[in-house]
Amino acid sequence: MTMRRVSLLGATGSIGDSALDVIARHPGRYAVVALAAHRNARKLAALCRKFRPSMAALLDADAARALERELAGDGLPTRVLAGPDGLVEAARCAEADTVLAAIVGAAGLAPTLAAARAGKRLLVANKEALVIGGAAFMRAAREGGATILPIDSEHNAVFQCLPAGYAGDPARAGVRRIVLTASGGPFRARAVDTLGAVTPDEACAHPNWRMGRKISVDSATMMNKGLEVIEAHHLFGVPARMIDVVVHPQSVVHSLVEYVDGSLLAQLGHPDMRTPIAQALAWPERIDSGVGPLDLASLAALAFEAPDPARFPCLKLAYDALAAGGAATVVLNAANEVAVAAFLGGRASYPAIAATCAETLARVAPRAVASLDDALAADAESRRTACALLRLPADATGMPLAA
Ligand code: NAD
Ligand code: MG
Repeated sequence: MTMRRVSLLGATGSIGDSALDVIARHPGRYAVVALAAHRNARKLAALCRKFRPSMAALLDADAARALERELAGDGLPTRVLAGPDGLVEAARCAEADTVLAAIVGAAGLAPTLAAARAGKRLLVANKEALVIGGAAFMRAAREGGATILPIDSEHNAVFQCLPAGYAGDPARAGVRRIVLTASGGPFRARAVDTLGAVTPDEACAHPNWRMGRKISVDSATMMNKGLEVIEAHHLFGVPARMIDVVVHPQSVVHSLVEYVDGSLLAQLGHPDMRTPIAQALAWPERIDSGVGPLDLASLAALAFEAPDPARFPCLKLAYDALAAGGAATVVLNAANEVAVAAFLGGRASYPAIAATCAETLARVAPRAVASLDDALAADAESRRTACALLRLPADATGMPLAA
């Protein structure tokens, strides 16, 4: 058994917690060599004491100094890094063979891409990085010799249902379509005409999953599923017309692959991210994730229904953006990040999220994306446009969503 050395980007978040829980169950099999996060120095210091990484990076320079002070005199092997370059250094860390990308939002793109270029075994939770990077990201990973393993539960389920060695050619593998399941979030059954009044806490109260606040809001609007359709398109080389979404309120079937012979393969399990994380950490082997057995007899029923377009306009926006091609998916993702941050900060209503995304897509001129620079330019223009629409200062484009 080879010891895997892991760099964990987004260590202080929800995925970070789940990943470290799995890793801590297998001390002889995984070592943490780098940890990175935004600005929560206290939490990162506690993680450094527990996992003794060689490096710890915080984006926020003041927080990085606070981390250094916290750790001084502890005799740890940990070098503290700061700023965007520090995050990239943690992602490239020569000691790491495995990088788990779990920063939220576009902020994760540069370090995730650095890990792809460095040929790491790359476990991707940070779907926004895949949406922005798109084909250029996948190419960089191929050229860098990286192995991409999806952690997003739906994509991990699809990965498990595809044949071993699947190489991005659905026809060759006999795949007819991919079916992504969606819980429907906290507002699946709420009267649509009351959605104008929902609060951030209501939007974050997901019925099945405990997650960070940005992805929780995305789950409520179903932009999360829209981003996941785009993510699946890039990860598996499958056109949008072969990707369907079905609402499945129990979140037990995590997604399915349908083959041309009529077989439908699904992956089932508790809604607990430790399962896909453990699957990807150990692949092609299997390890205990801490998730208990699923008692099928106790599941009263598994329900499936078509998503309601009036309730979830963001889902159609994502399909439309994918069909439009070029930078449209990048524009959509960026507008959504701005609008969700504004909603969580009390500066925009819940319906303004979908409205801002639609209007930004309409206003930003279409452009081709031949390179990552093209994608980043579209991302920046979209953020400026969305800020103007929401009457936010032009610099309110970031995502102060997490510690
Ligand atoms: P979270 O908000 O709980 O954690 C985000 C992490 O990213 C934190 O460690 C934070 O410090 C770090 N971070 C935030 N902004 C940063 C920045 N500018 N620079 C550096 N680090 C920054 O989010 P989460 O729920 O853990 O989600 C992380 C990613 O995984 C998201 O892209 C999300 O869509 C994806 N994902 C999450 C889940 C889940 O169950 N939580 C499931 C599937 C996919
Ligand atoms: Mg998901």
